[in-house]
Amino acid sequence: MTQPSKQPDWFEPGLHFECTQCGNCCTGPPGFVWFNDEERDAMAAYLEISVDRFMQLFTKQLQKKASLTEVKRDGQYDCVFLERNEQGQGLCRIYPVRPQQCRTWPFWPENLVHRDQWNRAAKTCPGMQQGGHDADAAGNFYPAEQVRLIRDSNPEG
Ligand code: SF4
Repeated sequence: MTQPSKQPDWFEPGLHFECTQCGNCCTGPPGFVWFNDEERDAMAAYLEISVDRFMQLFTKQLQKKASLTEVKRDGQYDCVFLERNEQGQGLCRIYPVRPQQCRTWPFWPENLVHRDQWNRAAKTCPGMQQGGHDADAAGNFYPAEQVRLIRDSNPEG
């Protein structure tokens, strides 16, 4: 019996993305940034504080899981590690050790189900608003295979 052939992903021609450092993905309504024990230890070490202190200062407990906490500014909930420079660019204070959840944006499973979801997320992420599917269009080009690899490395995927 032959198996039904798998439908190609809608992003088969590849996607463009280049972060503009607007910081929108690190703010907005209350949300969650999950991390595992290794990431927790790396963040604490990077900040040169103990793991206990890190958990106390920068995380919130949600049932059995911990998330990075947020700071309310101008009605928005900023990630506790979001900083703004004089030009208003969003900078991550722990960028080299940020959790995998942050590293895999915007190639999250929910953004890749259908083009509509990608376009919806792109409304608030200018880095995703790069036109065209050919390698010469603006923004960094991600072939479909690379998109799938990043998507599948998402801890919440
Ligand atoms: S919303 Fe998009 S463009 Fe803005 S900081 Fe996040 S990834 Fe970069």
